[in-house]
Amino acid sequence: MSKLREREYRLTPQRVALLRLLAASDGHPSAAQLYDRLKDQFPTTSPGTIYKTLNLLKDLDEVLELGFSNDDNRYDGSKPYPHPHLICIRCQKIVDAEVSLAQNLVQEVTRQSSYQIVGHRLDFYGLCPDCQDSQ
Ligand SMILES: [Zn+2]
Ligand SMILES: [Zn+2]
Repeated sequence: MSKLREREYRLTPQRVALLRLLAASDGHPSAAQLYDRLKDQFPTTSPGTIYKTLNLLKDLDEVLELGFSNDDNRYDGSKPYPHPHLICIRCQKIVDAEVSLAQNLVQEVTRQSSYQIVGHRLDFYGLCPDCQDSQ
């Protein structure tokens, strides 16, 4: 939120609400889910406004976008930097994977490839505990 203020973007109540909602959501919501949760409070908002705001927040590194070729993009506002994720292949729930290998991984890839790494993506796919129970 501080970056929005620094760059003098208008901190509309709607943008603040979206940032708060993103920071409080641990399921990595999609734009459609965010719209659903905000539309009662902000009846004038539209899915397009949500997308535009998410893109703005992404450019400011206030939110991490996870893109999927055959599913909606998902957003993480509490950790706006690359980190490993666990994705349930049945209910599409996404949670953060609590492993610490990512930082060493980036250093190692940088050293071995001489690439200047600007980001990475590490997804683990499987069945979440809830979906295993209902099998
Ligand atoms: Zn699941
Ligand atoms: Zn995450």
